[in-house]
Amino acid sequence: MIRAIVLTTLVAGGTLAAFEAQQPAAQDAKVVEVEKLKDNLFVLKGGGGNTAVFVTTTGVVVVDTKIPGWGQPIMDKVKELTNKPITTIINTHTHYDHVSGNVEFPATVDVVVQENTRANMERMGPVLGRESVTTGPNIFTQNGGRGLPKHTFTDRMTLFKGADQIDLYYFGRGHTNGDAFVVFPALRVMHAGDIFARKGPPLLDANNGGSGVAIGDTLAKAYAGIKGVDKIITGHADVMGFQDMKEYSDFNKDFLAWAEKEMKAGKSVEAAAAEYTIPAPYKGYTPNADQTKSNIGVVYNELKK
Ligand SMILES: [Zn+2]
Repeated sequence: MIRAIVLTTLVAGGTLAAFEAQQPAAQDAKVVEVEKLKDNLFVLKGGGGNTAVFVTTTGVVVVDTKIPGWGQPIMDKVKELTNKPITTIINTHTHYDHVSGNVEFPATVDVVVQENTRANMERMGPVLGRESVTTGPNIFTQNGGRGLPKHTFTDRMTLFKGADQIDLYYFGRGHTNGDAFVVFPALRVMHAGDIFARKGPPLLDANNGGSGVAIGDTLAKAYAGIKGVDKIITGHADVMGFQDMKEYSDFNKDFLAWAEKEMKAGKSVEAAAAEYTIPAPYKGYTPNADQTKSNIGVVYNELKK
């Protein structure tokens, strides 16, 4: 049993190290990897967040467009998958590794986001803890506003009909204050973006409305409110089961309860961060000490208000 756990940890660590080592080379070559989920639904990996490509009867919907320079590689890959035109982009949230490719698509392509995400994209302010790579000119301003959202929704919106239907949901603050859940009901699949990026500490981007107090509840509301989904396309990791989102909600609620206790005990952010370990029920989750420390700071700030 112990041997199995050690092996799992080694494999997880090895995969992550290999992925990080590959990143610069993959960026130069801009290799888009395709994972086919259904006959008309694909996940494109590389160059930032996971991109979903949904081929409808009349055109192609792209969910998230990766880091700068990866819009064209996405378009090239879509051409290999279908001869239908790309009609629509949906961005799950504002982050540069999910929206920057927008500016490379034809100006006629519709762009749909949650309304707070539009406001965030108009600013493109630095991401908490990622300031070094996210401080600089707004890529949309640089491109004359191309790629900015044309349509927004508040809590819920449906695009298209029948087998082409897409349901968009917003359940509250989490990773940012504009995290959309993008559901393909005919396929029983959803793209959750970075509110469920991976099994590990989330990036709580307080600079863009993210909340450590709300994220667990928001995920619970999504789990309760979205029906008929079996598989989740995560922001940056592999496809997971719908039940994994319930577990991830609990993980975040447990973190909040723990951080609240640490704060009440008078622990500094640093002292609390030094104590934190991934709780036993979440075996296999990848620890991230820097992110954990940042998240404790975010929760403390919210609880002080
Ligand atoms: Zn993000």
